[in-house]
Amino acid sequence: MYNVSSKRAEEFINHEEILETLSYASECAKDLSVVDAILEKAAKGKGLSHREASVLLACEDEQRVSRIFEIARKIKQDYYGNRIVLFAPLYLSNYCVNGCTYCPYHGTNKNITRKKLTQEEIAAEVIALQDMGHKRLAIELGEHPKENPIEYVLESLKTIYSVKHKNGAIRRANVNIAATTVENYRKLRDAEIGTYILFQETYHKESYEKLHPTGPKSDYAWHTEAHDRAMEAGIDDVGLGVLFGLEGYRYEFAGLLMHAEHLEAVFGVGPHTISVPRIRPADGVDPTAFDNGVADDIFEKIVACIRIAVPYTGMIVSTRENKACRERLLELGVSQISGGSKTSVGGYVEDEPEDEDSSQFEISDNRTLDEVIGWLLGLDYIPSFCTACYRAGRQGDRFMEVCKAEQISAFCHPNALMTLEEYLIDYASPKVKEAGEALIEREMTLPVVTESPMAKKLAENLEKIRSGVRDLRF
Ligand code: SF4
Ligand code: SF4
Repeated sequence: MYNVSSKRAEEFINHEEILETLSYASECAKDLSVVDAILEKAAKGKGLSHREASVLLACEDEQRVSRIFEIARKIKQDYYGNRIVLFAPLYLSNYCVNGCTYCPYHGTNKNITRKKLTQEEIAAEVIALQDMGHKRLAIELGEHPKENPIEYVLESLKTIYSVKHKNGAIRRANVNIAATTVENYRKLRDAEIGTYILFQETYHKESYEKLHPTGPKSDYAWHTEAHDRAMEAGIDDVGLGVLFGLEGYRYEFAGLLMHAEHLEAVFGVGPHTISVPRIRPADGVDPTAFDNGVADDIFEKIVACIRIAVPYTGMIVSTRENKACRERLLELGVSQISGGSKTSVGGYVEDEPEDEDSSQFEISDNRTLDEVIGWLLGLDYIPSFCTACYRAGRQGDRFMEVCKAEQISAFCHPNALMTLEEYLIDYASPKVKEAGEALIEREMTLPVVTESPMAKKLAENLEKIRSGVRDLRF
């Protein structure tokens, strides 16, 4: 039976409740007075339930769909302003014992080159990432008790945080590792990770079991209850995500929001981030083999509806998506993107020869980080390398309190300008530097700065950064 506060996966992601939600949504979406009432609630910017949001997702009335996009844009602006946070994935090891049929790292794939970075190689990758300008990483690795035990992850985190190359530093390492025990999550918390990210892949249990035939990940409950264990262990920020394309998107959407509601009900804090990957080609993975592909226009609607349903949750899109798609998603709700990414093990130091592929998926956006920054500036976004909240203790419920009060952009905006200034001085090409300095100058004259109590301090900090000081934050 459906129970949002239950600790059992099958109760808080209840199959019958999802099916009922889908049929409720299909019915209600035909009644425009119901849709309008939900839109009115959505416009208040305080979120929607999984049932309400599912009605919006099911609605096909053109005028209402435009209104959904309009509300999503407004919420995005109200909560996050015009900053976009940048990060890069760092693949440590592609050894994996699991059998995920959509991922080339699955244990029985003999074509892929298996690699695991040594601590020296990790330091070299981190230097390469710092030389690009990155400050925030997402650590990725397969599940392999022998090759990738928790000790390896902990040692790697130590290495990552210890490298200080020129003016560079990794200030926040988010971690994406397989579901594990409370004890291991405690170790990750003590290693000062940022967000613990774990994608559900699909919330549909039967499909989940087919797509994950072997390995520890085949246990649906163990995987789905992982965020609960992480939070029990004291990790304040957890990230959710589904791999769109594996199952029907409306099912996944409802499941994802039910998961967010569950975390909120049990821990008083919803997910810190939601990622929206779509399945991509990779070695031995043909996306057309999965018959739930999501077209671009539907994908945009999904992002807009997530933005409306959970305004306080950061939304992440990776380089799986191309430039044009990312541009549209930024407008509709995405607040964080990767840039200059490599999805192979060791890929930042050295490009792999084609016959030695170790990447997890093909990238659609192959631009360098500097090109991505130039593109964002051209769109009037402030590229941000901010990691301030986590380092200022604004995590979990402390973060949500500020975010839900729509106050977070008061921090995001000045921190974005300061970290952009660091980037422009330390790493940018002349063209991007010129565009970035012009944007900072412009932003400093806008009410968002001039009417802020932080205005004076911000101007002082920018001067300090120009004279060589680093890592200032609000
Ligand atoms: Fe392993 Fe993760 Fe790939 Fe599954 S998705 S095969 S767990 S690396
Ligand atoms: Fe993220 Fe906090 Fe920085 Fe805003 S101030 S960009 S929420 S770390």
